[in-house]
Amino acid sequence: MTDTKEKETGLWGMRHLFLRLFFENGWRHWRSYAISFVFMGLVAATTGLSAWIMRDVINEIFVDKNRALIVPIALGVVAIFVVKGIATYAQVVILTRVGNRIIADVQARLFDHVLSQRVDFFDRFSIGDLATRFSHNAQSAREAINLVVTSIGRDFFSLIALTAVMVLQDPGMAMVALLVAPPAIFGVTRLIRQIKAVARAEFLSLAKIVTTIQESAIGIRVVKSFALEPVMRKEMQAAIDGVRQRSDAMARISAATSPLMETLGGVAIALVILYAGWRVVAGDADPGAFFSFITALLLAYEPAKRLARLNVTLQAQMIGVELLYQLLDAEPQIWEKTGAAALPRDPAPIRFDRVGFRYDPAAMPALDGVSFEAPAGQTTALVGPSGGGKSTIFALIERFYDPDEGSVTIGGKDVSAISFSSLREAVASVSQNPFLFDGTVYRNILMGRLDATEEEVMAAAKDANAHEFISGFPEGYETRVGEDGTRLSGGQRQRIAIARAMLRDAPVLLLDEATSSLDAQSESKVAEALDRLMVGRTTLVIAHRLSTVRHAALIHVIEGGKVVQSGSHADLMQSGGLYSQLHDLQFDTNRDDAA
Ligand code: ADP
Repeated sequence: MTDTKEKETGLWGMRHLFLRLFFENGWRHWRSYAISFVFMGLVAATTGLSAWIMRDVINEIFVDKNRALIVPIALGVVAIFVVKGIATYAQVVILTRVGNRIIADVQARLFDHVLSQRVDFFDRFSIGDLATRFSHNAQSAREAINLVVTSIGRDFFSLIALTAVMVLQDPGMAMVALLVAPPAIFGVTRLIRQIKAVARAEFLSLAKIVTTIQESAIGIRVVKSFALEPVMRKEMQAAIDGVRQRSDAMARISAATSPLMETLGGVAIALVILYAGWRVVAGDADPGAFFSFITALLLAYEPAKRLARLNVTLQAQMIGVELLYQLLDAEPQIWEKTGAAALPRDPAPIRFDRVGFRYDPAAMPALDGVSFEAPAGQTTALVGPSGGGKSTIFALIERFYDPDEGSVTIGGKDVSAISFSSLREAVASVSQNPFLFDGTVYRNILMGRLDATEEEVMAAAKDANAHEFISGFPEGYETRVGEDGTRLSGGQRQRIAIARAMLRDAPVLLLDEATSSLDAQSESKVAEALDRLMVGRTTLVIAHRLSTVRHAALIHVIEGGKVVQSGSHADLMQSGGLYSQLHDLQFDTNRDDAA
């Protein structure tokens, strides 16, 4: 943690951050806060009254032995505590409800924000980090606001009411009791500084726990086959220990306010007793006022302690709020232009015009002056060595990134001028290792087009050569695929993804052919399904099959971020160069000649 970070969350920074949090999230609920303030005022007033009434209890009953007042005073005490109980209930319920609303709003806002980010945003924030911010830090927003509201509304008002009682009963004694305030304030501010560093470190360890669980779950096959369990266990243990130690430290620091406040509380009471004793000896003591005073002093002790700890507790929550804002303040980098147009749903050509793109300003360009065309309604193959830029071309068509130079157009329209929804509708992609959502097979296909009917889903599955194996499952389409489709084979996952794309029926298709991960039989089923899917669409395919390149209308050879050759299979074979070399290397003619 740097010095500047420390300063950022200094007391002023924290106040600024809190005000922002409150005005962005809490202010909307001002009505509820107003009502709960009324109840908290009642709590404070009845607390003050319960101390005040001690004077009559002592003077009227014990000193003056006034029979007539015994029952009224007892009833008065009951009334005070009933009102206090009801007011406390109402105040807690109202505040909790508003707090939960705030969490829900913050989470919805976070999610919208995350969805609007460029793909590389997810390289910067790991899933563990995001998950922790969503759950843990969104709660901090509620905790921070509620803490301040209850401190002001309940504790501060109670303290005022009780101080008023003390001053009214015996101003001199009140002065004596208040002598302990300055050392209390001084002691507590010192603890605040320590708590900040610990809270931040605790978050990092929490996020690490989530990341490790997630990695172990998603990568369980790799973990098992490489016997990485000890490594994962060690990482997890370190993260768990980190959280434990930080929690211990937080508890130690916040509990350190207790010895301080208890001692000072004792000192205050002792001072009052000394002062009162001296008054009794001098002969001008009012026992009722004295007991009322002591009661107020004892009752003031809890709210005073909570107020003293407010900064310490709040500081820990505000670290969470800061991390929340760090996420919310990450600028979305891909904008939908105002007035972005829709795309017609006809096959349209895709054109790259002198496109340059770098993932990182400091890195080599991933694409460097790339120009090519993929004609409408036909198949265009991209081939070339790995790392050449083929996937980057796909990413730019889907507008996961914007190019640094040049333009990408579909049907003559720049992709940045097409509305997001229309672009997503126009482009379907099937990757080598398609992502499946946790849920049923049916739902996974339906993701292609949410308003599709059951018949349409099944028709798509049939076209994708998937219906047969799906029907073979005991639960058919209702089979759960497990997170990221772990219960399905690679070929099955691909065919579900193809069915999804069939259902979407998009005019533009981006296809990343599987290399050799499939066995021959399932490869031919997938290939058949893909051939069916490609018909009549503008298809751009990262090709690994000989039949694909042979039947492609056009082939572009991509190497080092540039288009190095273009033409039909026959042209390119004839002209020699990289294509013919790759062809000999990459395409196993024996295997694929049948196609
Ligand atoms: P291909 O699909 O032809 O194998 P890619 O488009 O994946 O090639 O990669 C082109 C270049 O861009 C490579 O040098 C690769 O390292 C780089 N690259 C790809 N994806 C990213 C990313 N998310 N962040 C940074 N660099 C990337």
